[in-house]
Amino acid sequence: YGDASQKVDYVFKVVLIGDSAVGKSQILSRFARNEFSLDSKATIGVEFQTRTMVIQHKSVKAQIWDTAGQERYRAVTSAYYRGAVGAMLVYDITKRQTFDHIPRWLEELRAHADKNIVIILIGNKTDLEDQRAVPTEDAKEFAEKEGLFFLETSALEATNVEEAFVTVLTEIFNIVN
Ligand code: GDP
Ligand code: MG
Repeated sequence: YGDASQKVDYVFKVVLIGDSAVGKSQILSRFARNEFSLDSKATIGVEFQTRTMVIQHKSVKAQIWDTAGQERYRAVTSAYYRGAVGAMLVYDITKRQTFDHIPRWLEELRAHADKNIVIILIGNKTDLEDQRAVPTEDAKEFAEKEGLFFLETSALEATNVEEAFVTVLTEIFNIVN
């Protein structure tokens, strides 16, 4: 986890978007601090967290931005997207509506962000398999159609969270190199 003494070769801004309560803040907390909280408060104040990783022998500082409870449609401002080179589009596999809203988030992202932004679709809360409302196949198909990376995660069980960030950061790294 974050080693401040490291020399940084790259800083990549990545934004988290998606409906409220899908687990964005817990995904970030898992990635940045390897922590999880079951009764997480709605995000207030904190704008971003960072973690420095080594990718292909270079030190890459990921600056991950989390919405401060602005998840209502169109409430996320363009300042949030400014300079972002990656985006994680999150839904909750147990809440169909959060998946049905993904096209809107994608539209908003495409309207405000750089056209070359690397996007990963994330279905979170796979630990709640018995409450699943979004088949993996539906999301996979959507991601393929839209040219997005796709993974299902559990912030609670720490499943695929690291992989999701590594996927995005590596792709960004390959684009700039
Ligand atoms: P946000 O509004 O998208 O930032 O969502 P939060 O990160 O605040 O999470 C909303 C709620 O879902 C909280 O009660 C979290 O503890 C819970 N949560 C987040 N990720 C997971 C997960 O992977 N599994 C389960 N079971 N609950 C989760
Ligand atoms: Mg939050």
